[in-house]
Amino acid sequence: MAVAKTARVVGTERMGPDTMVLDLCAAEPLGFVGGQYLILDSRIVLPSGKAVKRAYSFLTSDAEQVHFQLAVKRIPDGLGSAFVHGLETGTDIWFSGPWGKFFPREGASGRTLILATDTGITAALGLLHATRFAQLLPQTLLIWLRASPDYFLPAEFVRTHVPADCGEMRIEAIPAIGHPERIPHARAILRQVMSQGDLAQAFIAGDGIVNQVLLDELAAAGVTVNKDNVESFFNMPKKSA
Ligand SMILES: Cc1cc2nc3c(=O)[nH]c(=O)nc-3n(C[C@H](O)[C@H](O)[C@H](O)COP(=O)(O)OP(=O)(O)OC[C@H]3O[C@@H](n4cnc5c(N)ncnc54)[C@H](O)[C@@H]3O)c2cc1C
Repeated sequence: MAVAKTARVVGTERMGPDTMVLDLCAAEPLGFVGGQYLILDSRIVLPSGKAVKRAYSFLTSDAEQVHFQLAVKRIPDGLGSAFVHGLETGTDIWFSGPWGKFFPREGASGRTLILATDTGITAALGLLHATRFAQLLPQTLLIWLRASPDYFLPAEFVRTHVPADCGEMRIEAIPAIGHPERIPHARAILRQVMSQGDLAQAFIAGDGIVNQVLLDELAAAGVTVNKDNVESFFNMPKKSA
């Protein structure tokens, strides 16, 4: 069973209409690797008896294990994100974790792609700041695809949070979630990246439908990938897939 841990909200910053960045101070070191996430327990229980618990990726470097940040987009009618957006400085939160395997294996090297769609940029930033990712940075291309310039975190925030050693970064538009052109668009970008040279590894985060298509595309191109290279935030692939 997951052990409940606590952290105190030590700062909140609203960015745009629906984004909140939380500064948190954990009661004890987290032991996370960049790319992982926690599961926040809102302590709200639905009439069905189901607890409202939601996953949020660590945004900040794993070199610092007590103070950390999360960035949360408010989802219309969503209880978990509404809970986060109602948090104030001085409040304690409960969570479990760290969870997830979205990080490179020890000793990984070579040309690396991180492709994030939508809110998946948090996992991408966490991964880029993983201590074990440092050696991959110079050969890494980060691509963040989002539907509009005011989606979630400002481009300037993302640019300033990408480590200076990162080889290249691109922030580009993609058709909205669910749009029929979204997948062809993401696939075309991946093909263009692969046409410029072999990838030693790739990490894909965000829209689960896009993730699954790109994972299949990478595997078909001979890039060594498995489900650990993917973090889906929504539009989850079916368990059997
Ligand atoms: C591993 C992991 C890491 C995550 N990290 C983050 C993070 O760092 N920041 C963050 O904001 N969210 C993150 N999420 C999503 C988060 O866990 C919740 O799903 C989100 O906050 C919505 O919760 P809710 O209770 O407000 O809405 P719900 O009622 O749970 O959600 C309503 C619907 O919206 C979908 N949804 C969730 N996110 C989006 C989105 N961006 N666009 C469109 N639909 C969406 C849900 O899947 C669901 O179908 C992560 C999810 C996972 C699995």
